[in-house]
Amino acid sequence: MEELNPFKIAQKQLDEAAEIMGLDKASHAMLREPMRTLIVSIPIKMDNGETKVFTGFRVQYNDARGPTKGGIRWHPEESLDTVKALAAWMTWKTAVVDIPYGGAKGGIICNPKEMSDAEKERLARGYIRAIGRFIGPEKDIPAPDVYTTPQIMAWMMDEYSKIVGYNAPGVITGKPLSIGGSKGRADATARGGMYVLREAAKYVGLPLEENPENMHKPYEELEKLDDVIPGDNAVTVAIQGYGNAGQFAHLLITRLFKNVKVVAVSDSKGGIYSEEGLPYKKTMEVKKNTGSVINYEGVKQITNEELLELDVDILVPAALENVIRNDNAERIKAKIVLELANGPTTPEADEILHRKGCLVLPDFLANAGGVTVSYFEWVQNINGYYWEFEEVYEKLDRKMSRAFWDVINKQKEYKEKGKDIHPRTAAYIVSIERVVEAMKTRGWI
Ligand code: NAD
Repeated sequence: MEELNPFKIAQKQLDEAAEIMGLDKASHAMLREPMRTLIVSIPIKMDNGETKVFTGFRVQYNDARGPTKGGIRWHPEESLDTVKALAAWMTWKTAVVDIPYGGAKGGIICNPKEMSDAEKERLARGYIRAIGRFIGPEKDIPAPDVYTTPQIMAWMMDEYSKIVGYNAPGVITGKPLSIGGSKGRADATARGGMYVLREAAKYVGLPLEENPENMHKPYEELEKLDDVIPGDNAVTVAIQGYGNAGQFAHLLITRLFKNVKVVAVSDSKGGIYSEEGLPYKKTMEVKKNTGSVINYEGVKQITNEELLELDVDILVPAALENVIRNDNAERIKAKIVLELANGPTTPEADEILHRKGCLVLPDFLANAGGVTVSYFEWVQNINGYYWEFEEVYEKLDRKMSRAFWDVINKQKEYKEKGKDIHPRTAAYIVSIERVVEAMKTRGWI
């Protein structure tokens, strides 16, 4: 049975890369465990008068390259190991796109679906009171993640500002625009993925035709455009997950490129398939009005497992971890896997896909658009000067495209040395080299 503990997977991926690159023992030991792990108890007065004690985590993995950065997850099954794994991945993510941050992650064990807004506000503020002295614009900068929203970020930023006694918008990113959020943050993850995908298609020779006039257009403008379903020979796409990442992926892939059709999408209830392609506007309407894409009439119903194995050019996992495993990887037919979700492919599956000639764009590269625009938000907060959409997207495009080629060039460099590594390992090596260089330059190692 494959080991699916997320932190063990993160360590295994690091170990593999470390061995291939001949990493020195001390650097390896530093990168195998987090630098700092906080576990806090947060007493909250619930609406019914009872006090409930919540457990919260904040893991600051490595800050050699700059203040640590990473989201806060609210989930009933949150665990320290998941938070540690995600904090490690944030370290590699910020390094691979070369933004001046280290990695962190936070989480609270709670079920936000069962909480009132007032209870959520008290929990957000309570968490910041518990970890407040360990975070800050120059120390550690949280952001939204699973079940946390811009509103929750606003309460957290406000609580932190009260503690320090001045307005500190740079302590948290993913804020609403009215208090220092950045334009382009909402679709940044999927948008960054599109820029990586465009470069990847050039690299593998997939004929993805760009729509240059839409490439840096605000998503609100793209949403107004009508769906154009291309004819034969279109590049085909399947998207698993229809939340923030999946929905924006559907919009952007069909607007930034001319000859693409999304033939399958899914959410937690199941999936749908249409050979002619699923128009974005209608699919969104069904999702918004009925709660699930499966209520789209006149198309074929498929399972989430079937979606992964469809004969498509591009597969976009945008939901859960560990969906591509050693028991289904052999049947995956896509030429490119764009990992918008965190951790969708297990290490064994990585190996199988690489052998089959499928290019897997690893999560910490493919979905780094979110943290990159978070970094832009922090830069704007510190300068007190705000950018337009186009400026944000152009800067994002440059960062993501460069990161993709850095990874591919690293893969080629190793190939020339006789080592056939897959892109995730190449991305790890790029990131590890950057973090190790910072640690050595600081004199830690
Ligand atoms: P979300 O909560 O908005 O959406 C998740 C989607 O997955 C929903 O449509 C849900 O129905 C679907 N889903 C849940 N269980 C499923 C199942 N068993 N099979 C198929 N679909 C299922 O979340 P999101 O923000 O879109 O994030 C999705 C993934 O992308 C996560 O792995 C997240 O960590 C990653 N990610 C998101 C961002 C971001 O900025 N939103 C950034 C980096 C990484």
